[in-house]
Amino acid sequence: MESQGKKMLESAQALIRKTAERMKLDSVMIERLIEPEFAHEFALVITMDDGKKRVFKGWRIQHNSALGPYKGGIRFHRDTVREEVQALGTLMSIKCAVAGIPYGGGKGGIVVDPKTLSKAELERLSRAFIGRIAHIIGEDVDVPAPDVNTTPEIMSWMIDEYQKIIGRKSLATITGKPVAMGGSLGRTAATGRGGLFVLMSLMAKLKKKAKGTTVAVQGFGNVGYYFAKLATEVGFKVVAISDSKTGVYDKNGIDLDRALKNKKEKGTVAYTKAISNEELLELDVDVLVPAALENMINEKNMAKIKAPVIVEMANGPLTQEAYEYLAKKGKIIVPDVLANSGGVTVSYLEWVQNKAGYYWTEKEVNDKLKVMMDRAFEAMWEKSNPSAGGEKKMPLKQAAFEVALERITSAMV
Ligand code: GLU
Repeated sequence: MESQGKKMLESAQALIRKTAERMKLDSVMIERLIEPEFAHEFALVITMDDGKKRVFKGWRIQHNSALGPYKGGIRFHRDTVREEVQALGTLMSIKCAVAGIPYGGGKGGIVVDPKTLSKAELERLSRAFIGRIAHIIGEDVDVPAPDVNTTPEIMSWMIDEYQKIIGRKSLATITGKPVAMGGSLGRTAATGRGGLFVLMSLMAKLKKKAKGTTVAVQGFGNVGYYFAKLATEVGFKVVAISDSKTGVYDKNGIDLDRALKNKKEKGTVAYTKAISNEELLELDVDVLVPAALENMINEKNMAKIKAPVIVEMANGPLTQEAYEYLAKKGKIIVPDVLANSGGVTVSYLEWVQNKAGYYWTEKEVNDKLKVMMDRAFEAMWEKSNPSAGGEKKMPLKQAAFEVALERITSAMV
């Protein structure tokens, strides 16, 4: 796991370096773009239900704040390592810049499998995490949010703990909160919805229609579920989905309600033909949407990927080798930093609402998200396929990184 985290960090840094060199940025600027501004590492101690104490390892890594406060989620995962948190924090700086929101990037993590904790233990751990980072976060300093295995409920414990520590309200310090505690309508579905807006923009450029286009979605968490649901609503045919254990294939289109019900009642999404996660990735579909964890498409399975379009809804679902291999084969790869930026974009809208004390309807939030995602897509697309003659075409990922670095460096003195 440590080596995977290291690999992920190396590839995020290599992408920044390559882009920066192409943009002819000087070596000092490149170093500033690569090194995190702060890296906080700590031990968390909580009392377990059996009365014994246990220590957990945690981080908050604040990568770059040129465009605004650090922004990024907190993940609870048993395989999380420092390098992974740093890589994800670095990608948040790029993501917020591509999305056109006034934030820098950061990420937090705790090494824990939350499924092994009771609810009370999970709450104590979440509060203990805030105890460690309360002095380094704040609505204009660093604004955490959910990530893998963290939920609105966990955010509600965190914001409550934070406000107790500072002795006043500051709802805008954490986003992804439940609506009753200042969360935004539309936040839960936002990452999936944003990804769908991006896919629709791409389809329009390729002059293709949703109807009849087959999609396979890996991941049945918040991101995968809403992506599949909303994609089905606009006419895509989602033929496969999977959770961490197993997948299901239905050539007539997945019945998501049935998959959900089956998972609840029988512990598996496979209400009809079961397929493995590996098989799902290798399906002959028009669009492949990895929406689970990082490094799912790698040197072992890259040669078997058939889909001509890949939308990176997870963070870093393709390793660097797999990305280069598939890009060379002519696959269209919509990069994570744009594809999944709907979540942080609605986090931004939540932050704006908290600061203003004025709340929008769900439709208003979704409409604003669409405007922002479309604008972000256009900036990347224009960089990738310049309308002005003489300028070179480049892959979407490269284009997204270049747009981001232009914006970040123009705010750095
Ligand atoms: N964890 C999400 C991401 O990776 C959301 C971050 C946020 O809302 O700040 O983009």
